[in-house]
Amino acid sequence: MNDIHSSNNHHDVIIVGAGMVGAAVACGLARAGLDVGVIERHEPQREWPAEEIDVRVSAINRGSQQLLENLDAWPGIVRRGVQPYREMRVWDNLDMGDIHFDSAAIGEADLGHIIQNRTIVAALWEQMESIANIRLYTSTTVEKTVAGSKDISVTLESGEHLHAQLLIAADGSNSQMRDKAGIAVHIHDFHQSAVVATVTTANPHEETAWQHFLPTGPLAFLPVSSTQCSIVWSTTAEHAVGLIEMDDAGFCQLLAEASQQRLGEITHSSARAAYPLVSKHAETYIGSRLALVGDAAHQIHPLAGQGVNLGFRDAALLIEVIEDARQRNRPIGSRPVLRRYERSRRGDNLLTQKSMEVINRLFSNDKPGLRQLRNLGLNLTDRFAPAKNFFMRQALGMEGDVPRLCKPRW
Ligand SMILES: Cc1cc2nc3c(=O)[nH]c(=O)nc-3n(C[C@H](O)[C@H](O)[C@H](O)COP(=O)(O)OP(=O)(O)OC[C@H]3O[C@@H](n4cnc5c(N)ncnc54)[C@H](O)[C@@H]3O)c2cc1C
Repeated sequence: MNDIHSSNNHHDVIIVGAGMVGAAVACGLARAGLDVGVIERHEPQREWPAEEIDVRVSAINRGSQQLLENLDAWPGIVRRGVQPYREMRVWDNLDMGDIHFDSAAIGEADLGHIIQNRTIVAALWEQMESIANIRLYTSTTVEKTVAGSKDISVTLESGEHLHAQLLIAADGSNSQMRDKAGIAVHIHDFHQSAVVATVTTANPHEETAWQHFLPTGPLAFLPVSSTQCSIVWSTTAEHAVGLIEMDDAGFCQLLAEASQQRLGEITHSSARAAYPLVSKHAETYIGSRLALVGDAAHQIHPLAGQGVNLGFRDAALLIEVIEDARQRNRPIGSRPVLRRYERSRRGDNLLTQKSMEVINRLFSNDKPGLRQLRNLGLNLTDRFAPAKNFFMRQALGMEGDVPRLCKPRW
């Protein structure tokens, strides 16, 4: 166990789970002057060979980038490696509907960056370890919590007792904290799995994210280095098993065919992994001295690369709400304070989740009527610049009620 900083077991806030979202919340709250305890089951990976690219990557939008900049984690991320993408091409199976997004059309340098998840975690941990008012409890987890009128007490596996005014659950989509609090989860099974790999293509990716909608699900090529793409191939569970088990040559050939060779032959593939696809939404984001953030609150289909971007918005808003409450001398674990967080985030997350379900249903099939409708939709959108620009700004995460920490520092 690592207890490098504070020596007492009383914190303002305890965060369970220090993946991308939990670590961001910890950095933001500590910078706002709170004493933060962080409980994480696993030590993160801190170093790896520069040329080795992990299959778990995320498309990070401008709002999330801004948050990471404001938390001083962005330089550490850039140092470890990021790949901007400036354009996006989306097309349908029969090559009849096509849409092209270009960041230049809205005066932006790029539409976002593709970054390995472990890069973001490592840079945020570097920050956490440099901030005096964060105490890390690693390689352990929570045995028991008891919420009282003044605080919440947490017993660790080791038997150690901690106390805080508020517990934040950032422990991912199978959140134990959410389950322990008895919060129900609505689950939608896509009956799909996402096969992920890092591949090298014969043609350059042109700093473009490519997405092909196949009847079995979307296939994305995300540029992840100057010569490689990370692929996310959402398909039926049975097909995914076949794609994982086949040899590399067979997989590369199938992948080239499935992408209609838009990037030419696939010359190399890394080992592959598959994730079953479900979306989940917690019935409530708050409980007694408890708030859920990130995948602990909501998990969505990866087709638009928005999952952790929503989680980072949760993080930024929760930090803002807690900071404001402290300035007004309001108890940070109280229901009215936590309700402000839930009210601001639940609608946005639910809308995105439902949109992903509808898009997936609309595109992942071969029904002739729907095929014509979606091709018409893609073509019309492509020709109507204001609609395209609106979608790009939405995807950048700079529209709507943007939390302070997701905006440029003044
Ligand atoms: C194939 C695929 C592609 C994706 N692509 C994108 C993309 O392009 N863009 C995007 O925005 N999102 C994407 N996502 C979604 C994104 O990966 C998730 O939204 C994100 O990882 C959630 O982060 P989190 O910190 O909330 O949870 P997690 O990453 O799950 O982190 C949870 C942390 O809590 C710890 N933990 C868990 N339980 C306990 C416990 N009991 N005690 C202590 N610690 C615990 C874990 O060790 C972990 O460190 C994708 C997802 C998939 C499956």
